[in-house]
Amino acid sequence: MTKVFLDEPDIPTHWYNLVADLPTPPAPHLHPGTKQPLVPEDMTAIFPMGLIEQEASSERWIRIPDEVQEIYRLWRPSPLHRARRLEQALGTTARIYYKYEGESPVGSHKTNSSVPQAYYNKLAGKTRLTTETGAGQWGAALAFATQVFGMSCDVFQVRNTYDAKPYRRMLMQTYGATVTPSPSDTTEAGRRLQERFPGTTGSLGMAISEAIELAVQDPNASYALGSVLNHVCLHQTVIGQETLKQLVVFGEDLPDYLFACAGGGSNLAGLSFPFIRENLEGRGHVDIVACEPAAAPSLTQGEFRYDFGDSSGMTPLLKMYTLGNDFVPDPVHAGGLRYHGMSPLVSHCYHEGLLRAIAVKQRDAFAAGILFARAEGIVPASESCHAIAGAVAQARRATEAGESPVILIGVSGSGQLDLPAYAEYLTGDMLDA
Ligand SMILES: *Cc1c(COP(=O)(O)O)cnc(C)c1O
Repeated sequence: MTKVFLDEPDIPTHWYNLVADLPTPPAPHLHPGTKQPLVPEDMTAIFPMGLIEQEASSERWIRIPDEVQEIYRLWRPSPLHRARRLEQALGTTARIYYKYEGESPVGSHKTNSSVPQAYYNKLAGKTRLTTETGAGQWGAALAFATQVFGMSCDVFQVRNTYDAKPYRRMLMQTYGATVTPSPSDTTEAGRRLQERFPGTTGSLGMAISEAIELAVQDPNASYALGSVLNHVCLHQTVIGQETLKQLVVFGEDLPDYLFACAGGGSNLAGLSFPFIRENLEGRGHVDIVACEPAAAPSLTQGEFRYDFGDSSGMTPLLKMYTLGNDFVPDPVHAGGLRYHGMSPLVSHCYHEGLLRAIAVKQRDAFAAGILFARAEGIVPASESCHAIAGAVAQARRATEAGESPVILIGVSGSGQLDLPAYAEYLTGDMLDA
């Protein structure tokens, strides 16, 4: 797969680290036992040094290794489209653009981080990665990346989606991964969680506990997390950097609004952090809006405090907006958004007023997704529908007010494998959770 361009466009050579530009420093992650700020040695059992350094880095630009850039070129730069037909369908005075991450090999932004994560682990001599996945996007992204670097991959998939959405499991297996429904009987954590929550449909927090346990036991294995952590947000900043350049090609300045969905916060961070930099440097006033599901509203309803990233308390303590690490969200379709917490960096930005948040109900999300699909031809991922719903509502308000803002939407993935959810919406059976 090689993309041919008349004019070979650039892809970013560095990741952008917002920490370097934040007016106030984010709170450090804490050791779960001592409650002291983490030191690198605390994390070496599950992460390679390359990623540990990035997790704690305050360097503004971090070079993307050539080997990673080469893989990025399989699908990057991702397209920025003007949504003219959506504008027409809405009869809006707003100009709407969307950055589409659904053209990656697995159909979402997740490969932007899975590839560097596999790369740094390979560099550290690891041969196996373990992880969790909800709807399967992260599992598929890591299965792809481990395959690229000749490593093996063990994925714990939230039981509810393992059963209900078999196609991404098949995709992971096609890339060579081993997939186990979580909570499972294969780990101590999984057995304990099943005792505590009999008949549970699982959660990301539970699956993380199982994946970490497996990684800690095998010296050749590391754990990989698909969202939330600083290094994941960092890797995703290729999205926003490209968008800044692409808007110039369209003759636009900075947008007035930026909408992205937020589960663990990584695609929102990736698109918005380069724009937050523009705001902080006084070049723009981009109104950045995190669109979270009403079923897991960590920013709009959660508390800002230290909490664990998983259900069993195995991760470091992260300062974040959280619904509590034992929160099990309703089984809404946007599996990638069913998480109790939120990236500490995104949480910090929200707390400091650098971005705001709205909660979107799933029927409103799918109504917007269908409008988008019929206008633009692209069926958005169920997660991405939340961002589109936020943007559509904003465009309608702008039209009523006689304003013509520029609205940028992060469409984090393709919904081709979410079609059963669309079908449920179309037959009227979808819960309005
Ligand atoms: C995983 C996923 C999300 C949610 O994760 P974030 O870390 O919040 O980006 C959103 N959209 C898609 C397509 C996903 O696969």
